[in-house]
Amino acid sequence: MMEREAPRIDEFPHVILERTDMVPEIMIAAGRAERAARRARNAGNLRSTDVVHAIQKVNGMLMSAAARCGQNPPPPTDIEMTTDPDGYLIYRCQHATPHKWKLDGTPI
Ligand SMILES: [Zn+2]
Repeated sequence: MMEREAPRIDEFPHVILERTDMVPEIMIAAGRAERAARRARNAGNLRSTDVVHAIQKVNGMLMSAAARCGQNPPPPTDIEMTTDPDGYLIYRCQHATPHKWKLDGTPI
C-alpha cells in the first residue's frame, strides 16, 4: 500500500514559515522521525534515543526555517516537534496555551 504523502508544514493552519525552500528537507526529516517513533512504539520503548535524535534534527530545521505559530496572542511563537504521552509525534508552539498539530497538519 502506498503511504500518503504528508501535507507540507507551511500549509498547516496558522503556521508561518520564512524559509519555505527548507520545507522539502523538513518533511523528509519529519518522515524519518515518524518512522523512528513508530518503531519505538512497536517496541514499547517510548524513550528511544533514535526518536530523540530524529526530533532534534527536525527542530534544528524548524528553527532555521523560522517556523512560527501565528495564532493569538501575538507575537508569533516558535514551533517545535515533540512526542505526546503515547509516543506519537506532534508539532507544538510556544504560546502560553500551546497550539498543537498532528503531523498531517490536523489541529489538536
Ligand atoms: Zn500558538
